[in-house]
Amino acid sequence: MIKLQLSLAIIKPHTVKNPVALSYIRNVLKNKFVVIKTKRLFLDKSTAANFYIEHKDKFFFNRLVTFMSSGYIDLHVLGHKNAIDLWRKMLGPTKVYKAQFEDPYSLRGMFGLSDTRNVAHGSDSLTSAEREIKFFFPEFSFYEWHNSNEELYR
Ligand code: ADP
Ligand code: MG
Repeated sequence: MIKLQLSLAIIKPHTVKNPVALSYIRNVLKNKFVVIKTKRLFLDKSTAANFYIEHKDKFFFNRLVTFMSSGYIDLHVLGHKNAIDLWRKMLGPTKVYKAQFEDPYSLRGMFGLSDTRNVAHGSDSLTSAEREIKFFFPEFSFYEWHNSNEELYR
């Protein structure tokens, strides 16, 4: 049986404002993943700071929080047998100059603007995927979802 792994994708504000990037990415998501939940939000600073709390001591923290609360973001819960690694691979390296150099056709390579404005977020582990999905979709039950969808993916 293939159990679908879940990951959280966040399309960052500059990408939501870029119709070419946004439609390209939506197409990719639709073709590669089961898109289980989608929601558009405008984060306030304290919610953005909470979401990125692991980075609170980094020099870029304030910049990141200000940016993430500067416009609408699109959230997507993605399902795939390898959702976490696949989505991060499609994003490419965190730093855009590296993405452009090492993986120019990754989403960050194609649409990234700076180290902060690097297109989209992807969960980096099973633990963070669970935390992040619960953070934005508190009503979502992993247990119920897996139980009720198990037979679809045998
Ligand atoms: P990733 O998003 O690839 O998991 P991190 O978790 O390390 O990367 O960082 C979270 C976010 O913080 C990045 O996506 C990016 O928007 C921002 N960021 C990371 N490193 C830098 C940096 N050196 N300068 C500015 N912003 C950064
Ligand atoms: Mg990260």
